[in-house]
Amino acid sequence: MKAIVTRFAPSPTGTLHIGGVRTALFNYVYAKQNNGKFLIRIEDTDTERSTKEYEKNILDNLTSIGLEPDEDPINQSERNEIYLKAAEKILQSGNAYWCDCSQEELEEMRKAQTATGKKPMYDGRSRNLGLERSDKTVLRLATPENGEIIVKDLIRGEIIFNNNELDDLILLRSDGSPTYHLCNVVDDYEQKVTTVIRGEDHISNTPRQIHIQNALGYPELEYAHLPLVLGTDKKRLSKRNAATSLEEYREKGYLDSAILNTLARLGWSQGENDVFYMNDLIKEFNIKDVQKAGAIFDITKLDWLNSQHLANLSLESFKEQLQPFLQALEINIEDHEKSDQLIEAMRTSDNTFSGIAKSLIPYYKDINEYDEKAIEKFISDKSILEELKVLLNGLDDWNQDNIDNILKNYQSEKGLSVPAVNQPIRISLTGSTKSPGLGLTLFLFGKNKSLERISNLLSYLS
Ligand code: GLU
Repeated sequence: MKAIVTRFAPSPTGTLHIGGVRTALFNYVYAKQNNGKFLIRIEDTDTERSTKEYEKNILDNLTSIGLEPDEDPINQSERNEIYLKAAEKILQSGNAYWCDCSQEELEEMRKAQTATGKKPMYDGRSRNLGLERSDKTVLRLATPENGEIIVKDLIRGEIIFNNNELDDLILLRSDGSPTYHLCNVVDDYEQKVTTVIRGEDHISNTPRQIHIQNALGYPELEYAHLPLVLGTDKKRLSKRNAATSLEEYREKGYLDSAILNTLARLGWSQGENDVFYMNDLIKEFNIKDVQKAGAIFDITKLDWLNSQHLANLSLESFKEQLQPFLQALEINIEDHEKSDQLIEAMRTSDNTFSGIAKSLIPYYKDINEYDEKAIEKFISDKSILEELKVLLNGLDDWNQDNIDNILKNYQSEKGLSVPAVNQPIRISLTGSTKSPGLGLTLFLFGKNKSLERISNLLSYLS
């Protein structure tokens, strides 16, 4: 059996898109589970829209998220000679011809076709003219006029195209530059690619590209066209519904492993199992199980998977990865006496590192703002806070159990609800009603700081 070679072939006309990461991931996993190779090719022939910055962004992000290629990436912009040779070979074999139709002529042709209810396409009028090359001619592939072409797709089965619906596509433009289709086909051959895994938006390109392969005598490839990545509005994922660049997710503090897990689930699932790491994917993924219908990217799914992946981190690794998010808030993790206990207690306070870092602010910095709505809702009577302050002040052994006892006794003596007792203290300590168990929170703040914050809220209220 031939060794599997897959490739991810981005055009560097923007930063790495989350849908692109999914394509790269499936290529990577398919190669690895077949002991094959995963390659990257930069399709930068569109010199107006491609930039080196985007190329760097794409390559850096792929590498750092763990989708490293097995060979150095290649750039199409540096391989012109190879494409020209291939075009020459097709011409010599009689499978291509020069065409000098002007834009106006092509426009007329399409108008006439549309007027008679036909599909607008190049009608092959120059095919048998035996034209010579000039600065006005393009080189066109002489596509077979009859018969059909069958694309064997690992996900979709056989997709049949009638050759008479495919027009003679351009291989070389009049300025002599090779087109996307030619470069793409030649490079798949030159890179010894066996399997093309790409978005379903490329399906209509595939039969055309197979005709180029046939004209060049290249071997057949395996194909898998992945379902589109949709937003929650069921339209193609765009900035309207969610951040689309990989970097934005990393900056918000989603773990790479959770991002990959979420992307793997875009069009693929395996029973009830939701949480996957790269090793599991390499073991479990089956390209044949990928669905045909568009796959919805839902941020709430990513949030949930991220919380699962965060929970699986050791405390050490969690702290290390949280560090940059705290630094951005000018917080030094060690500036808290009980930092390990604090971080452990706050690990599940949010779904992302940036959210968790934010919820840690009141533990490191003074409160300069209270949640007014919470005050209105929970503090109608200042005397509760005043009495609790006295009781807590009397506690010598400041530990979680003792604190919880004081709160519980006070609550039952006064016949108050839990929130009526707890929320005013939470607001004092954190400015809001969000915190872990109250005994633990008071313990983490320590006696002095806790009493000081209760006093602060009391003076703020009066
Ligand atoms: N450069 C193409 C794109 O970015 C990919 C072509 C392919 O994978 O064959 O859509």
